[in-house]
Amino acid sequence: MDGARDISSRLAALRDRIAELARAAGRDPRDVRLIAVSKTHPAESVRDALDAGQRDFGESTVQEALPKIDALSGTGAQWHFIGHLQSNKAKFILPRFAWVHSLDSAKIAVRLSHVAHEWSTPLNALIEVNVTRDPAKHGVLPEALPGLLEQLRREDLPGIVLRGLMTIGPHQASEPEIRCCFAGLRQLRDENRARFGLPLFTELSMGMSGDYAYAIAEGATMVRLGTAIFGERSYARAAKAGAPG
Ligand SMILES: *Cc1c(COP(=O)(O)O)cnc(C)c1O
Repeated sequence: MDGARDISSRLAALRDRIAELARAAGRDPRDVRLIAVSKTHPAESVRDALDAGQRDFGESTVQEALPKIDALSGTGAQWHFIGHLQSNKAKFILPRFAWVHSLDSAKIAVRLSHVAHEWSTPLNALIEVNVTRDPAKHGVLPEALPGLLEQLRREDLPGIVLRGLMTIGPHQASEPEIRCCFAGLRQLRDENRARFGLPLFTELSMGMSGDYAYAIAEGATMVRLGTAIFGERSYARAAKAGAPG
């Protein structure tokens, strides 16, 4: 486990680096939000990051996230659900998570909207797109995105605010391949935002510890960093703490 000093100095360095990359791309550094991905890391590590001024945190599974979020209630942490979401877990998302990055079906959207409406807490949702068409990944294929947006428009979804798109870059790929994936997501956002007239559909959640520099160059508004902040993940520790799945 990495100590408070490691976490705070890495966060400071990453904030500087992100700002530098944004400026190099002709962008306002305030338009890139850092999401600290705390999966497999204990609540104490999240507390260390909070003490260092970090507010946005990402978790991948409901089982692991719930006890952690509850242990940190009242700290001002804002939570993002970034893992694959099954519709039977939708009821656990509210009111703890403010954002879901992995919407990929109308069925889940209907469930989430229902629960969010009951809590009177609108949920910010990003649609996950499988830009690289990787069979091991979740998300909708690029050509299926307009169909899903059409379906979501037909449903009455008062609990959900569609905020943009999310993707995971290709694993072990060259710079051009990675940038092509991220540029593809940006293009999909621009086209569909215009086509469906969605003023708030502005976000691009893309970029992880290994590829966030390319993501910022291609327009990321949220980067999801785990290892770069908290160090290597230990799934064994997370399991012992009552986690994964
Ligand atoms: C784990 C995870 C991250 C963080 O990955 P790192 O490589 O540790 O930065 C980002 N996004 C998603 C969807 C993840 O599951």
